Amino acid sequence: MKIRQLLLAMIAAGSLSAAAADAPAKRPNILFIFADDHAWQAVSAYNESRHLNQTPNIDRLAKEGIRFDRCLVPNSICGPSRATVMTGKYNHLNGFYNNTNCKFDGSQQTFPKLLKAAGYQTAVVGKWHLESDPTGFDFWQILHGQGVYYNPGMNRNGENVKLDGYVTDLITDAALDWLKGRDKSKPFLMMCHHKAPHREWSPALRDLNWDNDRDYPPPDSLFDDYSGRGAAEKNQDMSIEKTMTPHDNKLVPMKGMTPDQEKVWNAYYEPRNEKFRAANLTGRDLVKWKYNRYMHDYLGCIKAVDDNVGRLLKYLDDEGIADNTIVVYSSDQGFFLGEHGWFDKRWIFEESARSPLLVRWPGVTKPGTVKKEIVSNLDFAETFLEAAGVPVPADMQGRSFVPLLKGETPADWRKSFYYQYYEYPTPHHVRPHYGVVTDRYKLVHFESFGAETDYWELFDLEKDPHEMKSVLDQPDYTTTQAGLTKELARLRAELKVPDHISPSAYGNVNPSAPDGGKKRRAAK
Ligand code: CA
Repeated sequence: MKIRQLLLAMIAAGSLSAAAADAPAKRPNILFIFADDHAWQAVSAYNESRHLNQTPNIDRLAKEGIRFDRCLVPNSICGPSRATVMTGKYNHLNGFYNNTNCKFDGSQQTFPKLLKAAGYQTAVVGKWHLESDPTGFDFWQILHGQGVYYNPGMNRNGENVKLDGYVTDLITDAALDWLKGRDKSKPFLMMCHHKAPHREWSPALRDLNWDNDRDYPPPDSLFDDYSGRGAAEKNQDMSIEKTMTPHDNKLVPMKGMTPDQEKVWNAYYEPRNEKFRAANLTGRDLVKWKYNRYMHDYLGCIKAVDDNVGRLLKYLDDEGIADNTIVVYSSDQGFFLGEHGWFDKRWIFEESARSPLLVRWPGVTKPGTVKKEIVSNLDFAETFLEAAGVPVPADMQGRSFVPLLKGETPADWRKSFYYQYYEYPTPHHVRPHYGVVTDRYKLVHFESFGAETDYWELFDLEKDPHEMKSVLDQPDYTTTQAGLTKELARLRAELKVPDHISPSAYGNVNPSAPDGGKKRRAAK
């Protein structure tokens, strides 16, 4: 209404023709901010957070738009998740199963290509991690591989550039530079994709003392003994206790800093590390120390992400384009912040498979809305296309959640979601598994691999929200289990999941493993 009134006023003043005022609404710009490994537990807009940190700029999107409480990813790991975002397809169709031996086929259909063909200006800056060069963008500037936090090298439209400074600031600088120089007659897609807060969790040097040596509230399951669950949970290699390295714990300086930067880094960490070494901690005290150091570093990274989200939102305000720009904040998956004693992701469990998702679209999203429906980053491509008025290709496997943004829930919106993880055995030794997720339950199949036999688990999130005990085969759940088994088969057929997948889909398969992954489809 406001825009129309303004246009009418301009017509009255003779500065605009009546024809322009009658033109259809302008196609919205899309600012898609994507973090790497940002746990929803570390976004203060989420009520279930452990009050670990404050993210006022990211929270602004929830206040002025929609907070999605159940955004699930099909495969909780960086590259595969990004391939899903680009294609709107599961990894068995887009070909990017794992981070160890996959290269994204950039000739396939992606949503940026479709937006570009429809007249959008398209750009991606920051983390890419799909191994091949980006396609479908007017401009791209991406980190090499995982990228580094301090003074990162990047590739700008095919040319290597070395930058000085902190990665989250530099990615935002590049996004802002491109936005300032864009063709203002066209709508834009800007994908501002951060490295942070990915391992090895290195905050901006200005933020090192951000938390004043706070003790963080640990999750109840920090010392989980994995009883009530199977071998996969016990045999993983992603625990705060056993897996973290001296680099993870900042007991040695990070690579790539200048001597001046290293001085600042040492001035913060070294006195604290001295104290730690002198204390000679063991057992639970040592785990608690590592947990606190982890939270300091991880949440410190998020502080800079949040500050830089604020810079982008301010730009939209200052430029007067916030009203016609969809802003999306999400992460390529969730992350464990000590739950089950873990860091990292990969599992179908809630901390990992669920990502934060906040969307602001002025005039469409009602401020302060919360949505509990199951949505996914599988739906992002479809959603962006519908928002831009571009037809959604039939071979995409998600569904546009534009109706949900408008406050409507279609009667046939999904009630279940299919999940499948592949990468094994390295890194982190998380057994390949697949399963079905509903609002209340999860049925999971951990696959046979080498000498490890397959098994199933069933979780009731209403009675066991932290997924501590499988209720598989318990009499109370007979009907539920049968229903979920059927639903899992239905989803696998609908999504065209093949029964046999090449062992290479698992990445660095140990060739000495007796079956090399071939017998992975042991029937229940
Ligand atoms: Ca990630």
